[in-house]
Amino acid sequence: MKGRIHNFNAGPAAHPLPVLEKIQAEFLNFKGSGMSVIEVSHRSKRFDEVIQDATARVRRLLKLDENFHVLFLQGGASLQFSMIPMNLLPAGQSADYVNTGTWATKAIKECMIQRKPVKVVASSEDKGFSYIPKEISFSPDAAYAHITSNNTIKGTQWASFPDTGGIPLVCDMSSDIMSRPFDVAPFGLIYAGAQKNLGPAGATLVVIRDDMLERVPQNLPTMLKYPTYVEYNSMFNTPPCFAVYAIQLVLRWLEETVGGLDRMEQINREKANLLYRTIDRSEFYRGTAEKESRSMMNVTFRLPTDELERQFVQEAFEHSLSGLKGHRSVGGCRASIYNATSLEAVQALTDFMKEFAGKNG
Ligand SMILES: *Cc1c(COP(=O)(O)O)cnc(C)c1O
Repeated sequence: MKGRIHNFNAGPAAHPLPVLEKIQAEFLNFKGSGMSVIEVSHRSKRFDEVIQDATARVRRLLKLDENFHVLFLQGGASLQFSMIPMNLLPAGQSADYVNTGTWATKAIKECMIQRKPVKVVASSEDKGFSYIPKEISFSPDAAYAHITSNNTIKGTQWASFPDTGGIPLVCDMSSDIMSRPFDVAPFGLIYAGAQKNLGPAGATLVVIRDDMLERVPQNLPTMLKYPTYVEYNSMFNTPPCFAVYAIQLVLRWLEETVGGLDRMEQINREKANLLYRTIDRSEFYRGTAEKESRSMMNVTFRLPTDELERQFVQEAFEHSLSGLKGHRSVGGCRASIYNATSLEAVQALTDFMKEFAGKNG
């Protein structure tokens, strides 16, 4: 492969080119330290500036009030599936979960492993998780209500968030965080593995509201409780330095180059519309998610046969369009078009799709 490819991977995923270039340019001598960012101390002033700046940018982009804490953890979104019930579901209470796919199912399972009471208040499993449930009745006494804002594998996304009647929302935003603005007020906790929309794998962003900390049991292991990360500004131990550094650069790109989340949403909408229009206008491609539940981040579609899907993925790759195979659990095709995937990349994909349908339809 000469030069760079159009990357539609689901995660780890595309990064903005200016971010990669910045990392490359300062890799051997980070801010005049004579060392790379993976060699400096996490207690140094240079690194402290990085994590402070990343935190400040998260606060600005999400418009967080003082009562929210921004944390960087390890263990991926998957560890959050366990930490959330451990920290936020006190004995004698139950939590509501909405099951919208593979990741939500895993989150529910981790709750059950700890023998914590879970109530699945809505599910879209009856139709292969192809839609987002509507008109959900949340339990008035639930400790929290857990949802997955974007379902990376099935290609669905909450267009707006449900009214829980004051129960704190806990949300897995791994695959659409920072893709659009939203009101954080109803959220008790938001989490996202970095490797879809924020940066490299290795760091997990957690945004937690102050009042949620009051219910955390005292007797949890140090590294498994949120108050440790709050108290030590995510540096009780060595943080994932490189990932946090790259996230800081991605957030800077979002603020200074893109121009914030309103603008990011416009661009994401334009990309998704272009792709869905191409699917809807052809007889050849078929979207798998119900129209009003469609994701702006992961566009899932099928071709007439498995054989044509294999051929499509292969020929797309020969056209420098990479990562279009659907998740191994569902098959089909998927184009992940996160923040860093440009409109030009989506145009190249839709041009190829039309050409491929013309030849094989
Ligand atoms: C990728 C993904 C996960 C898993 O993330 P890890 O960081 O690999 O644990 C969880 N939830 C959603 C919505 C995802 O897209």
